[in-house]
Amino acid sequence: MIKIRTATVLIGAMAVVNFAAARSERAPDPNWLDHDRDRPRPPEIQPGTSSTQEQPGQPPSDATVLFDGKDLSQWVAMDGTPTKWIMGKGYMECVKGSGYVRTLQNFGDCQLHVEWAAPTPPHGEGQGRGNSGVFLGLDRYEVQVLDSYHADTYPDGQAAAVYGQYPPLVNASRPPGEWQFYDIIYTAPRFDAEGKLKSPVHLTVFHNGVLVQNDVELTGPTSWLERAPYQPQPEKQPISLQDHGNPVRFRNIWIRELGKPGRKEFTFNEKLLDTYTGKFVDDIDVKREGSQLVVNKSGVRFAMFAESTTRFFAKTTDFRLEFIPDASGKADKVIWSVGEGANEAKREGTK
Ligand code: MG
Repeated sequence: MIKIRTATVLIGAMAVVNFAAARSERAPDPNWLDHDRDRPRPPEIQPGTSSTQEQPGQPPSDATVLFDGKDLSQWVAMDGTPTKWIMGKGYMECVKGSGYVRTLQNFGDCQLHVEWAAPTPPHGEGQGRGNSGVFLGLDRYEVQVLDSYHADTYPDGQAAAVYGQYPPLVNASRPPGEWQFYDIIYTAPRFDAEGKLKSPVHLTVFHNGVLVQNDVELTGPTSWLERAPYQPQPEKQPISLQDHGNPVRFRNIWIRELGKPGRKEFTFNEKLLDTYTGKFVDDIDVKREGSQLVVNKSGVRFAMFAESTTRFFAKTTDFRLEFIPDASGKADKVIWSVGEGANEAKREGTK
């Protein structure tokens, strides 16, 4: 018990040391004196280097690299199957009709760096000219990607707009074919247990190093024709890039997670999740709701989050599952635990 308490305190301290809260720190931490000599030092990192047109820069040493121009291993189609976007020399390119690409990993509050280039020679007008988008919260909140270099469209739909809500403060676009970059600070929305909005999305965006969105508050998901209201969503979601039918290119994508540290979590192919559903002994009933496993254990419902293709955890209770696939790939047993130990439960009806 004491051990657990120590661990909790340590994790709490780590949170102070390693992870700045994205927006919640509105006053200095009252737990420390001014100039407190005992205050833990922020971790030292290598800050990375700037990109040139020829060469992508080096990400900060504590960033998670999502795309380094070599492969699409961390990107999938929205349903978790392999994407049809193609690889070029050091970049990925949208293929018309192939759908959005998303990260396998889920992210909440974050700093996101994305480099992109509109097609050259330019083709099309308005919203049809080099259109793509960087979406936070899966496919909900779009920072517009568009060829807006000496090209006109409605302002809340031009490059670096929060689509349909906020035009950028200035148009800092580079010509089509040149690499441009966004640095995005995202604060995920929070919902209470009843699904009521507690705090909305905030976005700050730099376009080619210029501040274009200054901590704007979103009214809900970005959308065409209407102001869509917020719907409850998990705090961490994949990040996606839009297929709007134009061959926009992307390179050098990296992310730094902000806020409380936690386990990495992923959103996998629903077909994979379906191999885990069903009833197991020890009163474990596994179902899939959308891209999430939901488990009823002894009458209590748990939303489960994937930390690997076989391991899942709950966020309300330290309840963990590890599915053990048999030779055919179907999980005929699960290792489960609450707080401690490990218990093996076979699928009902198996020997
Ligand atoms: Mg778009």
